[in-house]
Amino acid sequence: MDNAQKGGDLDSVGGVGACKVTACAYNSSLECSAENIQVGNHAGQAECDTFQERM
Ligand code: SF4
Repeated sequence: MDNAQKGGDLDSVGGVGACKVTACAYNSSLECSAENIQVGNHAGQAECDTFQERM
């Protein structure tokens, strides 16, 4: 079997994707626009440490 083909979209760049925290300045139409984010563990829950409140 010839398996030289690679899957995935070569033009797509990895990103954070969907986020429902609309109060965050990085949130644009329920998508995160930050280049990368830090996620921390707060009381057993994953929480975004990059969150920045909208002005
Ligand atoms: S920075 Fe964090 S909280 Fe803000 S939109 Fe991105 S993932 Fe959501």
